[in-house]
Amino acid sequence: MPELTYEFVKSLPKAELHCHLDGSLRMGTILELAKEQNIELPAWDEENMKKILVPPLTCESLEEYLKPFDIPVSVLQTREALERATYELAQDCAEGNIRYLEIRFAPVLDTQKGLSL
Ligand SMILES: [Zn+2]
Repeated sequence: MPELTYEFVKSLPKAELHCHLDGSLRMGTILELAKEQNIELPAWDEENMKKILVPPLTCESLEEYLKPFDIPVSVLQTREALERATYELAQDCAEGNIRYLEIRFAPVLDTQKGLSL
């Protein structure tokens, strides 16, 4: 039996059946989109943004767990941002040998700046 390493698991063909678009943005993409759209962020470097975006292991409530999603949702308010995020997610999954991907998102969350459902 092969050793169960990161590289071995990465090489296996996989299916991702429940992937949230707004929870899968690249950190650099969040920072770039925020700059482009003049959105204020609580931090402007990847290390501090990671600390803010990853919920604590012991969340008191679902609201606390979901709070970090406000940030990626805030930058996903344009067609271009949604297209870029989706394309990059597909790239990242392909790189990890995910052969089948079901992406989900809540379109109503992306209507804060004028996009329609
Ligand atoms: Zn879900």
